[in-house]
Amino acid sequence: MTMGYDGFTGEAIMFKTFKTLPEMLSAFPTEQTAVDHFTAIRWANGKFCPLCGNADAARIGTLTGTNTHKCYACRKRFSIRVGTIFQDTKLPLRTWYAAIWMITAHPKGIASTTLATDLGITQKTAWFVLHRLRHAARTKSFNAPLKGEVAADETMIGGAEKNKHRNKRTKGNRGSVGKTIVMGLVEKGGEVRAGVIENARKNELHGVIYNHVEPGSTLVTDEWAGYLGLEADYDHKTVNHRQGEYVKDGFTTNAVESLWALFKRQYHGTHHWVSPKHIDAYLGEMAYRLNRRDVTKGDRVNDLLSQAEGPLPYKVLIA
Ligand SMILES: [Zn+2]
Repeated sequence: MTMGYDGFTGEAIMFKTFKTLPEMLSAFPTEQTAVDHFTAIRWANGKFCPLCGNADAARIGTLTGTNTHKCYACRKRFSIRVGTIFQDTKLPLRTWYAAIWMITAHPKGIASTTLATDLGITQKTAWFVLHRLRHAARTKSFNAPLKGEVAADETMIGGAEKNKHRNKRTKGNRGSVGKTIVMGLVEKGGEVRAGVIENARKNELHGVIYNHVEPGSTLVTDEWAGYLGLEADYDHKTVNHRQGEYVKDGFTTNAVESLWALFKRQYHGTHHWVSPKHIDAYLGEMAYRLNRRDVTKGDRVNDLLSQAEGPLPYKVLIA
C-alpha cells in the first residue's frame, strides 16, 4: 500500500491497490477514476506544472468539472498526461492500465498482436503502447549502482547461432558485424541491468561497469581482454570460458548466462522478430520484470505509473 497525495483535495490518501486483473478493473469503473488515480500518483510529492516546472501548489488550479489544470506561473493549461508517456494519445487511461497489467504480469512479456486482440485496439496502437511502456520501464531501471558480487557478460543477439557462440568469436575482435551486442550485469541476490552496447572493446565495457557497479564490489567476468584493467577499483574474478571453465573458486557468470537464455526465449518465443534498434527496450522490459519479481502484480502497475514521466513521441519511435 502506498501513501499518496490527492492532487485535487490536497489530502493524504492511500493509493488504490489490487491483487488481480478483475480487482484492478473494478477499482477503476470509470475513466475519471483512472485519471484521479494517475493524478494522485504523479503529484504524490506535491503538484507541479509539467510545462514550466512551477511547484507552488497554490499557483496551480483545476478548471471546475474538467481534467484541465491551469498554471498561474506560465499561464498555460495542461492535462495530467502532459510530459508523460500518456501524452498525445487518446487511448483511455483504463486501457493503458490493462496494458500495463498485461506487460508487467506476464513473465515473458507480451506481443503487440496479442495486446491488440485482447484490448480491442489496432495493431499500430498496441505497438505504440508497448514501446511507450518499455520506455517507462527502463527510465528508472538504470539508477542505483549494483554492489556486492556482480557477474558481467556480453553476448550477441541475432544472426546464425554458430556465430553467436563464444568459442567461435574471432580472437581480438569480439563481436561481429551485423549483430547486436548486449551486455548484462547481475548482482548476486539483487538486481539486473541489461542493454545494448556499441562494441565489446575495453572502453565500452569499462564504461558500462563504472556506470552500473559500485567501486569496491566483486566483479566476475570471463577472461576477455576487454575486462582487463578493472582491478584498481574492483575485486576482479575471472572464469576461463575458453577452456571450458564455468566456476572458479566459487565464482561464476552463470547468472548472466541464464539471463541471456531467458532473453533469447522471449526474443524468439514471444516477439518472433525484434528490430535491432528496439532490442535495448526489450532488455529494459525484461530487467524491469526481473527486478520486480517480488513485487505483486497489482503493485507493479502503480510502480510503472509512478515512472510514467517523459513522453516518447511516435516520431521518435519510428525514426
Ligand atoms: Zn507552468
